[in-house]
Amino acid sequence: MFTLVSFNLIDMKKSACFPGSFDPFTKGHEDIIRKGLDLFDEIVIAVGVNSSKNYLFPLEKRLNHIKSCFENEPKIRVITYQKLTVEMCKDEGCNYILRGLRDVKDFNYEVPIALMNRSMSEIETVFLIPDTSLFAINATIIREIYKNGGKIDKYVTNFERLVN
Ligand code: ADP
Repeated sequence: MFTLVSFNLIDMKKSACFPGSFDPFTKGHEDIIRKGLDLFDEIVIAVGVNSSKNYLFPLEKRLNHIKSCFENEPKIRVITYQKLTVEMCKDEGCNYILRGLRDVKDFNYEVPIALMNRSMSEIETVFLIPDTSLFAINATIIREIYKNGGKIDKYVTNFERLVN
């Protein structure tokens, strides 16, 4: 009886991964995750590591920074991965992928990936829309602002944890 009950509880757990390079992790990413916390029992923030890609912020800084944004949130785990996203999801026990949608460009980019992921693994992708004030936040633009000496702390929570 005990086994049956605990098995069902494990089975019911809804766990999502939010994959990305998060170079840097912005208030847009953060908003999607905070909204996702209402839907999922656990969210794994999965920082993809691509050895052929040049990142602006070092991996360790990005990891520490993301962790600092969710210090008091037990439903969040932060990991790195270097494999197919669906394989990482299986390894981490995630049955959903969480992604954000800002505009048609995101939609056109995301839908084929979501369909391929479902075809490979039956893992569903759940899309959430951020607060309208965050629509324009884009990691590529944030990097350009930072590289050119602009301030980005308005777009990145705990910015000091990213650079110190
Ligand atoms: P990466 O971190 O791999 O560079 P992106 O930052 O482009 O990738 O996006 C990772 C995910 O976060 C995508 O689903 C993207 O739509 C979402 N995202 C990025 N910025 C925002 C934002 N401002 N609002 C909502 N979702 C966002």
